[in-house]
Amino acid sequence: MRVLASYLGGQWRPGHGPELPLVNPATEEVLVQVHSQGQDLGAAVEHGRTAGRSALAELTFAQRGELLSTMAKAIHGAREELISLAVENGGNTRSDAKFDIDGASATLAYYAELGHKLGDGKLLADGEVLQVGRTARMGGTHAWLTRPGLAVHINAFNFPAWGLGEKAACALLAGMPVLSKPATATALVAHRLMELFAPLVPKGALQLLCGPAGDLLDHLGPGDVLAFTGSSATARALRGHRNVIEHSVRLNIEADSLNAAVLGPDVDLGSETGQLFLADALRDMTQKTGQKCTAIRRVLVPAERLDEVAAILAERLATIVVGDPSRDDVRMGPVATAAQLRDVRAGIARLAAETAAVFGGTGEVTPRGIAEGRGFFVGPVLRSTRAPLECGALNDHEVFGPVSTLAAYDGSSAAATAIVARGMGGLVTSVYSDDRDWVARMVTGIGPWHGRLFLGSAKMAAQSPGPGTVLPQLVHGGPGRAGGGEELGGQRGLGFYMQRLALEGDASVLKSLLG
Ligand code: NAP
Repeated sequence: MRVLASYLGGQWRPGHGPELPLVNPATEEVLVQVHSQGQDLGAAVEHGRTAGRSALAELTFAQRGELLSTMAKAIHGAREELISLAVENGGNTRSDAKFDIDGASATLAYYAELGHKLGDGKLLADGEVLQVGRTARMGGTHAWLTRPGLAVHINAFNFPAWGLGEKAACALLAGMPVLSKPATATALVAHRLMELFAPLVPKGALQLLCGPAGDLLDHLGPGDVLAFTGSSATARALRGHRNVIEHSVRLNIEADSLNAAVLGPDVDLGSETGQLFLADALRDMTQKTGQKCTAIRRVLVPAERLDEVAAILAERLATIVVGDPSRDDVRMGPVATAAQLRDVRAGIARLAAETAAVFGGTGEVTPRGIAEGRGFFVGPVLRSTRAPLECGALNDHEVFGPVSTLAAYDGSSAAATAIVARGMGGLVTSVYSDDRDWVARMVTGIGPWHGRLFLGSAKMAAQSPGPGTVLPQLVHGGPGRAGGGEELGGQRGLGFYMQRLALEGDASVLKSLLG
């Protein structure tokens, strides 16, 4: 059986020790194995900090941007092959796979362009030179400089391409070498990306660990950073890691989120805004089998419209064909792993105890094109509640699958705000209304609980990417339950990988330093 090697210290290293299987979640066929031990991660960390750091330090922002551009093109050139791997190892339909893979190349291309705009410098000025002394001779200002260590990236199973690409884009453009660790279960796509990137990137600038993290964090020091995407349980372990605490390792966490969609009281379901709301709620249940950190989990609807929304969504959900994701007539594949299936089923059972059934029962499904009893399949499940504030299963637990719950509210922005805020901090919530005053109250009410708000309305409906799409121009991350992190957001995304430095001295020296 083929073993997926890691790319560490400039070489492909298979490791050794017990093997972990990577499977096709539709058939449960074992595709490849990874060894769970045997990597010298201390040496890999040092290789990144030395060879990788100095190679990137030679490059200007524009040259690093050029590097990102070649990486984006490499993905594009291997797009079909990568899509096939995502279908095979991730349970993705072709459309799901494109969302991940095109998202990776688009984000790299966006940061390539930013590098071009930032030009020939290697540090970033932050504001003007200010007079801080008795005369203008004594100046003070701020600048951003590349941090001295290694960027360790730990990614979740659901976006093996985008997760690697979006984090690497910001780190490499900022000048920090990267050691990326995809989730083991779906590492096939990330492994192929590393095969494509290895001949393109300078020595040590990008390494890939396939398999468990082992003692990786034990080697982190004060100049390093750790960016994590995954569950809040793992996030807690990383936050409490001795080395992270002792060396103040800079940490970014992207974790769970009970994202909401709120239908405004002014919206007719037949209007453009109403149709946008329905399309977004449906897409987020089924795209990537609901395994999107940004997926809508709570759908707030004015109480008198709940039955109408439930009937329309149930009718549309009934047309979703679940089954072998490699088939063109299938709209939704399996969840990614057996553990994931267990978690989703447990989450549905928890919801079922506190909510009413609308569609899909508890997820029983006969997948199309799949031998009986095989694969990690669960059908789309829509539930509803008329007492959302009291519903713990709705507000306290993210079911990471094709599951959503309708929640009745009285149509006021105050009530909607109280329910949304019960999620204790999220990545994104979408608000659908053409009443600007109502929208303004929602923004001030729920805005502070989120990293991003999506404001759906008639004027933008025709060109909306939907709330689930993370754009490189805008910040991704959120407070509280969502982990408190922040990624992307254009040039802001570089800040995590750079040190902001206050500089004071002769104003003319400062000006020449900052170009
Ligand atoms: P997970 O179990 O927490 O795993 C995430 C990553 O952490 C994997 O690479 C995993 O490696 C690694 N890991 C696990 N234990 C570790 C440890 N002790 N030390 C270092 N690394 C460790 O999460 P998941 O099941 O892959 O992802 C699903 C969750 O991610 C969902 O809750 C979802 O909301 C969240 N998510 C959030 C975002 C966001 O942007 N906010 C995006 C996507 C997903 P192994 O695979 O080798 O165990």
